[in-house]
Amino acid sequence: MNIKPIKPLIDSYGRRIRKLRVSLLDACNFRCVYCMPLDPVFMDSSRWLRPQEIERVCSALVDFGLEQIRLTGGEPTLRDDFRDIVLRLSSLPLDKLGLTTNGWNLTKELDFLSDTNCRHINISLDSLTKEIFTRITRRDYFDKVLDSILSAKRLGFHVKINTVLMKGINDHEIFDFIRFSAEHEVEIRFLELMSIGQANGYKDKLFVPASDIIQMISTREELTGEESECDSTSFNFKTSSGASIGFIASETLPFCGNCSRWRLSADGFLRACLMSENGIYIRDVEPEDYKAKLNELLMMKPYRKIERIEQDMYKIGG
Ligand code: SAM
Ligand code: SF4
Repeated sequence: MNIKPIKPLIDSYGRRIRKLRVSLLDACNFRCVYCMPLDPVFMDSSRWLRPQEIERVCSALVDFGLEQIRLTGGEPTLRDDFRDIVLRLSSLPLDKLGLTTNGWNLTKELDFLSDTNCRHINISLDSLTKEIFTRITRRDYFDKVLDSILSAKRLGFHVKINTVLMKGINDHEIFDFIRFSAEHEVEIRFLELMSIGQANGYKDKLFVPASDIIQMISTREELTGEESECDSTSFNFKTSSGASIGFIASETLPFCGNCSRWRLSADGFLRACLMSENGIYIRDVEPEDYKAKLNELLMMKPYRKIERIEQDMYKIGG
């Protein structure tokens, strides 16, 4: 439990910053069609924040009231110093330390993670069939990812599956995902395809609003709403068959008015919003200048949703 926001970061709309997504690198070994081109140009690893720099920035933000950190990328588990970073952040007084991963390398990390405070793992899985999974990720790693999900569950981690639903590609699998959730007692969150980078080229054709999915599910299942934090990105239900499902409707029901998140890129660019390229380089900021710099960033947080961004998701940190 985080004890005290000493100098809480509250903007003029009353939004308090308490969550940070930390992108460890932009590189990834998958090529999900909505996230990355087939031939991406990744930043040179010499630009990545070193583990001690990540720790320094995060620790300073904890003094300003940060309560939760989620590691992401690119694919965070691909960094050689992944464990060093997790250990450092694990020693901070956070309410929650989490990881968002494609699951490819996860089974190898689970024993290590079991001994840390990183207990919340979100794993991306867009299809329950090998063929469609391969079509979306452009990689033949379905079995590895499934194994990671089931192993993480077995070891007692809080596991959530992230599924981006796309019309005519995987939206016919909704009830398979619901069965999977009930059978393996794992929460599935259906994400609306966001107007970010690569996805802008597919959006008109593939977009499925969360309301359509909810309507479809309601024809077969009774949905009971679950309570969630006021700054949660998702709204959640239990289904009559025992599944736990959530919806991240970033496009049709944006949560900007309650957003409590900042993002740190692999090279130390701290941004106020996923959809805006405004931010500050934090790497070389001296401790005595933090307050002024962070206040600058607070002012950059948009209140209304920005419609689209051309930068790709993997470069921002998802
Ligand atoms: N590589 C890790 C993974 O796939 O979980 C972490 C980074 S990835 C960018 C984080 C999440 O962003 C994934 O669940 C992915 O499906 C989601 N994502 C990427 N591009 C998206 C888009 N345009 N719309 C919605 N979700 C997207
Ligand atoms: Fe990689 Fe995650 Fe982007 Fe897929 S969504 S290409 S796994 S960073």
